[in-house]
Amino acid sequence: MSDCLFCKIIAGEIKGTIVHQDNDVVAIEDINPQAPLHVLIIPRQHIATINDLTPANDALVGSMFRAAAALARQHGYADRGYRTVFNCNSEAGQSVFHIHLHLLAGRPMLWPPG
Ligand code: 5GP
Ligand code: ZN
Repeated sequence: MSDCLFCKIIAGEIKGTIVHQDNDVVAIEDINPQAPLHVLIIPRQHIATINDLTPANDALVGSMFRAAAALARQHGYADRGYRTVFNCNSEAGQSVFHIHLHLLAGRPMLWPPG
């Protein structure tokens, strides 16, 4: 999608620090990290919100979680623990309307989340 920040990062039109990429997803460091490890796992396909997912995207969502788990393991957080978050729409704080899975690790996480 032409005016989407994450589509532009995936296309290389805007700089992003890529930490993983495969056929389905690109993972980048969050520009405003909320934990020592804060990575965004972004599908190459533009999907605005998780409300827009269809059964055809089931494997893609699985790939996003598997990429998050692999990155967490790579950074030594598999056993210690980490959090994965999808924000959907305004009350949840979604600010970029191209779905992305937040991977946060490296500090204790509070519950309930803010
Ligand atoms: P959301 O609020 O939509 O769940 O998450 C969007 C995330 O994208 C935020 O954590 C924000 O810090 C991050 N972000 C916003 N603009 C950029 C950018 O230009 N580059 C990178 N790497 N992250 C960004
Ligand atoms: Zn997009």
